[in-house]
Order: sequence, then structure tokens, then C-alpha cells
Amino acid sequence: MDLQLNGHRVIVTAGANGIGRAIVDAFLAEGARVATCDIDETGLDALPDEVFRRRVDVGDAPALIGFIDAAAAGLGGLDCLVNNAGIAGVTAKIEDIDLVDWNRCLNICLTSQFTSCARAVSHLRQSANASIINMSSVAGRLGFRLRTPYAAAKWGVIGLTKSLAIELGPDNIRVNAILPGLVSGERQRRVLEAKAQSQGRSRAEVEAEAFSFASIREYVTPEQIADQIVFLASPRGRTISGQAISVCGDLKMLA
Ligand code: NAD
Repeated sequence: MDLQLNGHRVIVTAGANGIGRAIVDAFLAEGARVATCDIDETGLDALPDEVFRRRVDVGDAPALIGFIDAAAAGLGGLDCLVNNAGIAGVTAKIEDIDLVDWNRCLNICLTSQFTSCARAVSHLRQSANASIINMSSVAGRLGFRLRTPYAAAKWGVIGLTKSLAIELGPDNIRVNAILPGLVSGERQRRVLEAKAQSQGRSRAEVEAEAFSFASIREYVTPEQIADQIVFLASPRGRTISGQAISVCGDLKMLA
């Protein structure tokens, strides 16, 4: 299927590793022009030469705004913004969560998306096929035991997405959210190992329990997430807006 993304101008936040890197690679494979920011300089250095990159912490609003403008100038305009950056945040009972940790998680996972959307719209309004894709999580829909700041932020991403889809539809800017489930990779390994350790169980046990709540009992790969995103960004996805799309093997609960 030709996704007609040749020359598409795309910003992906946190594109140096993990899902973000897979999204960068998927857009490049379609002939798109890509800009990314990240805090991992080694990961940024490892990106293909043609990628516009800058070291930016998305929690630093002025730096993020400067990056959006610089990237749009470097790309010669902007057709798509992918707000991928997010952190897992603290794992703790509600009474043990520090306000600093709460605010940090909300800032990186949600407020940064508000900041970049608000700055990107003036650039996106010039595009004939504009879209925003915000990274949420099934945790936003299902809740996540002991991960309250993360789940709250990711639920907020869905509200941000749906509201912006209504507001920006008349400007021909589509806005969708992707909700990954259990994604293979380093982050999932860290989460499962921390959980296994805290509960005195084996990692295999914790993993089997996690999959017992899914209809399709396998990890989603970063590349499968990226496939959904390039499709949504393409003209083939032009009637899809305001959706919160789960890519999670029908996961019904996060244990
Ligand atoms: P990850 O932890 O592997 O990190 C990806 C990148 O984010 C890294 O390159 C890191 O340097 C960068 N980064 C971290 N904090 C940053 C900041 N403040 N500013 C700029 N860059 C920063 O993450 P991932 O697993 O690839 O997840 C990507 C997105 O998908 C996140 O929004 C995450 O919440 C969401 N998600 C992931 C999973 C999963 O299982 N991996 C599941 C659901 C949702």
C-alpha cells in the first residue's frame, strides 16, 4: 500500500530509542522528512544523518517551543506532530506519592503534549494533510495499580486529543491518540522486573499474569505501534480523527 508520505514533514518527540525510534524509522522508510528531540545524546547521535535532531527535555516548555519552531523551519513546514515522549513515573501507594513526582509525570506525559500541540498548530494549518498523534497508553483507559500519576496523565492525553480533534477539525488537522499495551523492549523489561522483585515472584510469573488479561497473548512491538502511526498520518487515514486507538492485543486489565 502506498501511504503517499514521500516528503511528509514530521516531528516525533523522544525519537532516539524505543517506540520513538521505531516511529522515526517507519516515517523515513516511507520517504518522510523527520525531526526529533530527546535527552539521550548518544541515541540522537546514532540516528541517520538526514534526521533533524536536538537535545531537548520535553518538560522544559521554552526549549520544546524553540525545538518545534526550529524543526518546522528545518523541515520547510510541518505536516505531522507525533507526541511520543513519556515516562513511567513513580510506582507507589497514593499516600506515598510526592507532589514533585506527581507534577514531573504530568509535566512530561501530558503538559508537554499541550505545549507542543499549541505551538505546532500555526505550522500545521499551512499543511494540506495535517495530523497530530498523541501517545497515550491502555493505562489511561484501564487504570494502573500503583501507577496513578502515569494513568492520570495518559487519561488526560485522551481528553486533550478528543478536544483538539473537535477544535482543529475545521482547520483540517486530524488529532488521534495511540494506546499501546505491553510493548516489547527495555521499558517493559524494567517494569516487569521491578514488579517481580517487589512481590518476591519470578519475572516469568509476573509476565504470565500480565498476559492472562489479554485476548492476544503476545507483546506488541514498537514497529507495530509505528505502523499504526504512519497510517494515521497518511492521506489513507484522512477520515480518522478524535480516536483513542488501543494497540494492545485487547488487554482488559493491567495487573
Ligand atoms: P522509553 O522509556 O524507552 O523512552 C523512549 C525515549 O524517551 C528515550 O530515548 C528517552 O531518552 C526519551 N525521553 C525520556 N524522557 C524524556 C524527556 N523528558 N524529554 C525528551 N525525551 C525523553 O519509552 P517507550 O517505551 O519507547 O515509550 C514511548 C511512549 O509510549 C511513552 O509515551 C510511553 O508512555 C508510551 N507507552 C509505552 C509502553 C511500553 O510498554 N513501552 C506502553 C504504553 C505506552
